[in-house]
Amino acid sequence: MEELNPFKIAQEQLDSAAEIMKLDKRAHAILREPKRVVMVNFPVKMDNGDTTLFNGFRVLYNDARGPGKGGIRFHPAETVDTVKALSAWMTWKCSLANIPFGGAKGGVICDTKKMSEGELERLSRGYIQAIGRFIGPKVDVPAPDVYTTPQIMAWMMDEYNKMAGHQEPGVITGKPLEIGGSEGRFNSTAMGAMYILREAVKKRGIDLKSARIAVQGFGNAGMFAMDLVTRLFGSKVVAISDSTGGIYSEKGLDYQRLIAAKEKTGSVSGYEGGSKLTNEQLLESDVDVLIPAAIENQITGSNAGKIRAKIVLELANGPITPEADSILFEKGILDLPDFLVNSGGVIVSYFEWVQNNYGYYWPEKEVYDKLDKLVTQSFSDVFKTQDTYKAKGTKITPRDAAYIVAVDRVAKAMKSRGWY
Ligand code: NAD
Repeated sequence: MEELNPFKIAQEQLDSAAEIMKLDKRAHAILREPKRVVMVNFPVKMDNGDTTLFNGFRVLYNDARGPGKGGIRFHPAETVDTVKALSAWMTWKCSLANIPFGGAKGGVICDTKKMSEGELERLSRGYIQAIGRFIGPKVDVPAPDVYTTPQIMAWMMDEYNKMAGHQEPGVITGKPLEIGGSEGRFNSTAMGAMYILREAVKKRGIDLKSARIAVQGFGNAGMFAMDLVTRLFGSKVVAISDSTGGIYSEKGLDYQRLIAAKEKTGSVSGYEGGSKLTNEQLLESDVDVLIPAAIENQITGSNAGKIRAKIVLELANGPITPEADSILFEKGILDLPDFLVNSGGVIVSYFEWVQNNYGYYWPEKEVYDKLDKLVTQSFSDVFKTQDTYKAKGTKITPRDAAYIVAVDRVAKAMKSRGWY
């Protein structure tokens, strides 16, 4: 089977939005390609005395709406096309959230699991030395992503500050609290998703207090979502899974006991007092809300017809294939797209940058209140756009509508700047 090129997929998604919204051809041509791709090779001294040459990238996709924004990935299978695709998706995510950033992404081909802490620090500093001239609080602002952590962001900020000769905490976000990180950042992705869910249930007449929920994945995104949905709304999470299997309980699962089961047995399926279920069964379970929070391509043409949830909240990136998207839409299932649902992380990153630039920090509640305002507005923008098209006789999915809102904003910014 032909390997799917992620950048080709990103271009095709743009093409289909461009067609529906009749996007100006000149804007479309600019938006099909990244503005800048930086490729670097840099040496790192290893613990055994050798020097290894590492290959990295930083892609600035579009900065018409503001500096680039996007994570840095440390991954052995990183490719420039993956980074380009992810930088395009960041452009749409930041635009949909209506924060003053363009899209960017970076990566280094490396296997962090085989590196000591010292090697990782030298790699992080070496990468910043190599790309330092292409980032900055007013240029392009990185953040953590796959296999990069707040500690790595701290080393990177420190290295950038040495190069700049002054303090610039806003060069990078996702930092530890003690050097300018934001309150509320740790669970911001799941928190943003909760505000979206609160709005979405109104469209289906579901009462969250009595709602039954299934969550696929018990990592950073899934576990916080599971915890928040029960604490904030009193909903029952009846099913949850990780890569080794899942657990079901009609009474509702308990967060602390799930953590304990994961620690003791290595999997949530070790939870006592429930019945085991497979990931396939979890996806197809009879619940009000399904939250895919694990990996991509989980709902496809072959199982979309069997989904029984009334709402699908895409907390993971790309959990649903385009074919499945159409099937869910035809079935009347409300599927909320990933770059709307999981935008809480980048929104709180934006708040971190604002606080750094001001030198004035907000308490957690203020961060969450501001997050709520922004994601609730994005939700409303998406459904208003869907309604506008419906009134014109064109049925579009929430994902199409989200693309239209995002692309239109970037196109207008480019037009104002005189790029076309
Ligand atoms: P993670 O690595 O912390 O957790 C992933 C979880 O998924 C683990 O519990 C793992 O066991 C489980 N999993 C893996 N394969 C599975 C399978 N086949 N079936 C069921 N479960 C499986 O990752 P994360 O940070 O929680 O991210 C999860 C998704 O959310 C990714 O798509 C990520 O891009 C997206 N996301 C996360 C954040 C964030 O802030 N963490 C932000 C935006 C998007």
